[in-house]
Amino acid sequence: MKKTLNKTTQEKDLTTLKNKGKKIVKFLKTEFPNAKCGLNFKSPFELLVSTILSAQSTDKRVNMITPILFEKFPTPEKMAQARIEEIEEIIRSIGLFRSKARNIHQLSKILVDKYDGKVPSTFEELIKLPGVGRKTANVVLGELFSMPRGIVVDTHMKRISKRLGLTTQNNPAKIEKELNEIIPKNDWVWFSHAIISFGRKTCTAINPKCESCILKDECVYYKKKKKKRSKKI
Ligand code: SF4
Repeated sequence: MKKTLNKTTQEKDLTTLKNKGKKIVKFLKTEFPNAKCGLNFKSPFELLVSTILSAQSTDKRVNMITPILFEKFPTPEKMAQARIEEIEEIIRSIGLFRSKARNIHQLSKILVDKYDGKVPSTFEELIKLPGVGRKTANVVLGELFSMPRGIVVDTHMKRISKRLGLTTQNNPAKIEKELNEIIPKNDWVWFSHAIISFGRKTCTAINPKCESCILKDECVYYKKKKKKRSKKI
């Protein structure tokens, strides 16, 4: 009996969250109807490498250095033949450039040896590549193959989904799992990009612009902040 009750409560919670997710999607579609990947790329290989480079950096910075990198090493074959120091020299303005250079070099060799120079199209194959985690794999699957395995959980998604009360988790894999249940699958790719745009424009890490925010009525963080303020008065 207890089990049945727990299940019913969980189902009700999920329905509430799904309804909330629908409203959030609707609001975000009015503001960011065409949200898309901020990285510039001309091939699957370029997207894969650019996404790896973007970890703990910004798309803007990555877009500044990738034209130079890909002019010199446009394919996995060319990148695999490069010296790691040459890659480091080009990407050194990006955080963690030494490990990223090693990973890109190693990954290029694997693409050549194992995948005939192509980017693999399954989550399981992608996350085995050096420097590729769930986030990068989901970006690549969504952008290139239109079959994301889940929502991309980066720093913006982590912060905003918690503020909105869509999740209470801290672990990106757990956040992804919960959001995948709440947000309709058709919207996963767009939603991942829309939240990044929203995080840069409105729901910034420091001093979010809550008073002018289109999602404030759905936001747990905002409601708590408001309650605290009214107690002080
Ligand atoms: S109300 Fe504030 S914290 Fe909540 S989503 Fe909007 S900007 Fe972010």
